[in-house]
Amino acid sequence: MALAYIGLGSNLEDPLAQVTRAFDELAALEHTALVARSPVYSSLPIGPEQPDYINAVALLDTQLKPLALLDALQSIEQAHQRVRIQHWGPRTLDLDILLYDNQIIQHPRLTVPHPYLTQRGFVLYPLADISPNLQLPDGQTLQALLHQCPFEGLVQLPDNCLPNHR
Ligand code: ATP
Ligand code: MG
Ligand code: MG
Repeated sequence: MALAYIGLGSNLEDPLAQVTRAFDELAALEHTALVARSPVYSSLPIGPEQPDYINAVALLDTQLKPLALLDALQSIEQAHQRVRIQHWGPRTLDLDILLYDNQIIQHPRLTVPHPYLTQRGFVLYPLADISPNLQLPDGQTLQALLHQCPFEGLVQLPDNCLPNHR
């Protein structure tokens, strides 16, 4: 089994509902358990002008190998009718592998740790909500990265604004 952190993002067609559904779909993946889900944040878009994002992070315990996990995440993205038109353009759902155990992966389809992980507040803050003492494979601590990354533009949403809140 491996521990994998997944970054979730959406800014189209009811982003909160997209992310909530994606958590359930991650929980339903074969050979995989959803161990933790972060609070949900809203964040300002990067790239072209587009609506604000909803972001969150999931922690999975999985038997899927990294590329099999990527395949599974891309199937979920496709089920959310994700269409890639523009680099960093608006999307119904983005699922990125942020970390996979302590592995460093350089594959044409997959770079782990995620290449922009260290620069993105909308990834670092929800990661820290789940695992404040996390360390990257190169030894950098999440706490040191957070100190260099402004919370600016991020808003943590209260639990009770999630659809189907139980
Ligand atoms: P960004 O990488 O800046 O977050 P993005 O998530 O919008 O950009 P996508 O269009 O979702 O980019 O993915 C483009 C390609 O990135 C995918 O086809 C996938 O093969 C590749 N990729 C490389 N590393 C990863 C990773 N760690 N997680 C998910 N996809 C990855
Ligand atoms: Mg992404
Ligand atoms: Mg992606």
